[in-house]
Amino acid sequence: MSEAISGSGASGGPLDPALGGPHDPEHDPRAAYALEPEYVARLTDRILSTTGVTKQVTSPINGAPLANIPQSSTEDVAEAFRRARIAQAAWARVSIDERARILHRLHDITFDRQTEIMDLIQLESGKARKHASDEPLHIALTARYYARTAHKHLDTERRPGVMPALTRLEVNRVPKGVVGIISPWNYPFTMALCDGLPALLAGNAVVTKPDAQTMLTALLGAELLEEAGFPRDLWQVVAGPGRELGTPIIDRADYICFTGSTATGKVIARQAAERLIGCSLELGGKNPFLVLRDADIERAAEGAVRASFSNAGQLCVSTERMFVADQVYDRFVERFVARTKAMSLGASLDWGVDMGALISADQLETVQAHVADAVAKGARVLAGGRARPDLAPYFFEPTILEGVTPDMTCFGDETFGPVISLYRFHDESDAVARANDGDYGLNAAVYSRDGDRARVIARQIKCGTVNINEAFGATFASIDAPMGGMRQSGMGRSQGAEGIHRYTETQSVAQQKLMRFSPMFGMSDETYNKVTTATFKLMNKLGRA
Ligand code: NAD
Repeated sequence: MSEAISGSGASGGPLDPALGGPHDPEHDPRAAYALEPEYVARLTDRILSTTGVTKQVTSPINGAPLANIPQSSTEDVAEAFRRARIAQAAWARVSIDERARILHRLHDITFDRQTEIMDLIQLESGKARKHASDEPLHIALTARYYARTAHKHLDTERRPGVMPALTRLEVNRVPKGVVGIISPWNYPFTMALCDGLPALLAGNAVVTKPDAQTMLTALLGAELLEEAGFPRDLWQVVAGPGRELGTPIIDRADYICFTGSTATGKVIARQAAERLIGCSLELGGKNPFLVLRDADIERAAEGAVRASFSNAGQLCVSTERMFVADQVYDRFVERFVARTKAMSLGASLDWGVDMGALISADQLETVQAHVADAVAKGARVLAGGRARPDLAPYFFEPTILEGVTPDMTCFGDETFGPVISLYRFHDESDAVARANDGDYGLNAAVYSRDGDRARVIARQIKCGTVNINEAFGATFASIDAPMGGMRQSGMGRSQGAEGIHRYTETQSVAQQKLMRFSPMFGMSDETYNKVTTATFKLMNKLGRA
């Protein structure tokens, strides 16, 4: 176990050694994961809060109280923006090289402290350790990518002006100012930070409101940013319900980055439109997974387990609909079901658990309702199907359904849990049409031994990302790949050039030399018109040759 578990980590460690470790049977398991008060105080000290009000969060691992989180008011949000604006003005003058150096340091610090990060993620979310480990990895990859590509994305660019050699045109990338980031609970470390790193690199400050359930992980992220070298006031954290703090944030921000549900995304888009500020929205999905007749079945079954049950299905890019070719359906289903039934389930900080708990009673309620509705209407359960309160308060088994029909809620609605529906298809165009059914368009997976054919099919799928012979990791971990949804799955893209350019305004600066944009040497307007027409006709001819 980690230094953090023993309470002697470099950070002071999140867990109280006096209460014993998670494997000590003599201790009350509800107390085994208690946090040191000093540790909580150090993290929560970053929240701008003058209300005196706190909100208790409990751990989904055991249902025990974890921490009391100070809550922010509208005035606190205003103060966060005031401080952020002052910090941003100074930060915008820091060189791109220096900003990139800080990101490189963040990369190393994130790996150095990943044990502590994973502990805290698990305590707040209940996920399995192997899924928690994806988060520091994703942040390290993001930090390194943007550090290495900073100049490519941000340097002033020379472009051709209207009159070759006579119009010198440059395009600057100017920071927007203060970016508001509202993030969800499902990947509490990566979602709190990954969209903010390019914003900082581009010269902005950030005011962030992480989800109430996972504030501590987000605050640890803020601590790491400062340790890496970002000025403390550049990254402000406020805490409270989104429906209360959302509006004051949007009212003051120069840009909004939101990740969460489609319903909330629409509210935010309307508010951003009212102020004419830009926004990016990373929303829900009902992601399809296609197994073509020539797929490597063993590989597809392995991918299917990760696609469906990573983070207990509470992953925007996870699969909820699986379309399998007739020719391989039985073989694939047999392998997929066998692998699913062999998964080790549990709620602990140990490695070796394949799937952890759901995060909250609300999540469990939705998952149970979707499965109960499907079963009542005739769906067959091939694996799982039950809540497991013996493992953790909100645990639900990885569940495979067959015979799901359009009248069942889980046919088209996002479950956001460990529930997958299987469908058989006869021809590929039918599979593509069914994959494109519905309103979402976030992520898809296609399994085939023929990469060329799979790429042709990928182009026909209306999703922002398509992974071939992989569930979601190939696109998600390639930080140069723009991520985001088509249709109701979102607007705008994170990662890659798109992920940083959204936080900048382009500013075109054109310097006109010698020739003016008006008649010269006593020329009449009519002659000037003839000369320019002839010139541009010639340029068009030369350009075509
Ligand atoms: P949610 O929309 O309820 O909450 C997300 C965040 O928005 C939270 O911080 C919440 O406090 C805040 N919020 C809620 N109401 C608000 C309002 N009126 N104004 C401003 N902020 C408000 O979503 P959730 O249920 O917490 O998260 C799960 C959803 O997020 C799923 O639908 C999932 O698909 C989606 N998601 C998408 C991605 C992606 O990258 N596309 C990633 C993770 C999660």
